[in-house]
Amino acid sequence: MTDFAGKQVMVMGGSRGIGAAIVRQFVAAGASVRFTFSGSPDAAAAVAAETGATAVQADSANRDAVIAAVADAGALDVLVINAGVAIMGDPLTLDPDAVDRLIDINVRAVYFAGVEAGRQMRDNGRILIIGSVNGDRVPWPGQTAYALSKSAVQGIARGLARDFGPRGITVNVVQPGPVDTDMNPAEGPFAKMMHAAMAIKRHATADEVASLVLYLASPAAAMITGTTQTIDGGVGI
Ligand code: NDP
Repeated sequence: MTDFAGKQVMVMGGSRGIGAAIVRQFVAAGASVRFTFSGSPDAAAAVAAETGATAVQADSANRDAVIAAVADAGALDVLVINAGVAIMGDPLTLDPDAVDRLIDINVRAVYFAGVEAGRQMRDNGRILIIGSVNGDRVPWPGQTAYALSKSAVQGIARGLARDFGPRGITVNVVQPGPVDTDMNPAEGPFAKMMHAAMAIKRHATADEVASLVLYLASPAAAMITGTTQTIDGGVGI
C-alpha cells in the first residue's frame, strides 16, 4: 500500500458507502483526512470517531457550501468528489425538482469543488471523481437523469486535466458498476437484473472501489489523467 503520510486528503461525501471506505483507506495509509456529509450526521460522527478524520457538514446541492468546504481545507494533495445521488424512473413522470437537485449534486458540485481545489492544490495533486459505468452505458431503462450526470463528469475531468496538467495535477473519473451500499444493496430488488448483465455476477465492495481510488492518487499513477477508469465487473460488455 502506498504511504500517504503527510498528505492532505478531502473526500466530498464520506459519511457512508464508497466515500466512507475511501476515508478509512486513506487514514489507514497515513493521510490527514477531512470529509463532507449532509444528511447523515450520526454516520459521519461514527466515521470521524473511528478514523480520526474531520467531518464537515456541507450540502453538495449548495454551491457556496461546496466551495467553502474545499477552500477551508487549504492546500490539498488529494480531492475525491464522491457525493452523489441516484433517482431512477420514467423520465415522463420523474419530479423535475428532483432531477434538478441530482444535477446540482452530481454535476455542478463536482465542477465547483474541482475548480476550487485547483486554487490551492499542491503540484502533483490528484482529483478523483466517482462517476458510474452509466456514464458510458445504460443497460436498463429509467436512468436518463443519472446517466447524464455521470457522462457530464467525464467532460469535467478531461477539461480540468488540461487546465491543471502543467502543475502535475491529474484528474480522473472512477466508474463503478453495482457496489453494495445503501444506494444499491447487494440484496436489493434489482440485484439479479444487474448481475445478469455482468461478466462477474456480484456487486463490488466499497473497499474494491476505494483501492482503485488510492492507486490513482499514488505517485505510480502520475501519467494517468483525463481518463475514466471503470470498475464494474463487466456491465454490458
Ligand atoms: P450512498 O448513498 O451509500 O452514500 C452517498 C454518500 O454521498 C453519503 O456519504 C452521503 O452523505 C453523500 N451525499 C449524498 N448527497 C449529498 C449532499 N447533498 N451533500 C453532501 N454529501 C452527500 O452511495 P454510494 O456510496 O453507493 O455512492 C457514492 C458515489 O458512487 C455516488 O456518486 C454514486 O453515484 C456512485 N456510484 C455508486 C454505485 C453503487 O452501485 N452504489 C454505482 C456507481 C456509482 P449524507 O448521507 O451525509 O448526505
